[in-house]
Amino acid sequence: MPDSLIKMITIEEGASGYDLAKTVLENLPGIPVQEVKAPGKKSASTDTAMGKKTIHLLPYKGEFLKPCPGTREYICCGYQILNLGTNCPLDCSYCILQAYINQPHLRVFSNLTEGLAQAVQRIDRQPEQIFRIGTGELTDSLAIDPITRWSERLLPLFSTRKNVVLELKTKTNQVKSLLTSNYRDRIIISWSLNSPFICLHEEKMANGLKKRLEAARQCQMEGFTLGFHFDPLVQHPGWKDEYLKTLDLMADYIDPKGVIWISLGSFRFMPGLKPIIRRRHPQTCVLDGEFVTGLDGKMRYFKPIRIDLYSYIRETLEKWHSDLGLYLCMESDDVWQRSMGWSPNNTTGLSRYLDRRVLKIFG
Ligand code: SF4
Repeated sequence: MPDSLIKMITIEEGASGYDLAKTVLENLPGIPVQEVKAPGKKSASTDTAMGKKTIHLLPYKGEFLKPCPGTREYICCGYQILNLGTNCPLDCSYCILQAYINQPHLRVFSNLTEGLAQAVQRIDRQPEQIFRIGTGELTDSLAIDPITRWSERLLPLFSTRKNVVLELKTKTNQVKSLLTSNYRDRIIISWSLNSPFICLHEEKMANGLKKRLEAARQCQMEGFTLGFHFDPLVQHPGWKDEYLKTLDLMADYIDPKGVIWISLGSFRFMPGLKPIIRRRHPQTCVLDGEFVTGLDGKMRYFKPIRIDLYSYIRETLEKWHSDLGLYLCMESDDVWQRSMGWSPNNTTGLSRYLDRRVLKIFG
């Protein structure tokens, strides 16, 4: 359990008056608490542990709800990111946060109630737009939910809005508070999946594949819509057989008719992440492939490898069910055509496709 791994709480000036700070303190009884003036300036990339055993409460000064920055060079999905905090108690070798985050600790924004009120105002001003909102970009959506109880605040707020879907994305089985909630409509619980080998060797602290799928099945049986994300796909020895094991397990556990979408993305990284991965995860296999620099400056697999990965997963998934809302994350028109057999052409096209999935499932 991630909450048993937390060894310290630090509270930044101005954070303690908010109700989320009280929730965190209540859920971590006996953990030492320290008041601090300013956040540590140490770069996470030089701290091997990245401060993952400390929860740092702070008031967030920025906007909580923002469009995903995406990139002009590739087709993006038009997602909205709800920032609840940054950093993650899990420790995937390929995690972009290792290079991206320049502050240590699991940073939790204590002024969430105020941030959500702002976000909802924006959503309600644009009733004609469908807001596909996710919280799992800068942290895992559910890993510290037993501590923060984020889901208890988010579900009632978003489940009742007709122009929203909220997606909670995780590699854990922390679904207890979801299952006790009365809210199901317009909520998508999603799991990041990978091959059994990658889950075991590259996704440290995450739950294993079976535990994730057991939790997914439980959520589906309790009336939640599911999503899945194969991102990052990693080319590793025997990858076809390895991914087939995961796809077979999915078929055993999940009813495909209750799946809104499944995304596929291949491993990509800014060059600066490479030495950090080498230092923090010397045994990793994720850097072993043949990479080229993409149009956005990120290293990605040589195009034929990406097409091979996507085509294989798509074909295998389509044998399971023909209507799974498959899409590629950050890929070009050409790669779409050659691996999926069609292309949404651009970001607007992909947004429309995903909005149609929302309308189909939730109306
Ligand atoms: S679950 Fe996501 S955010 Fe957490 S360590 Fe893994 S890749 Fe990073």
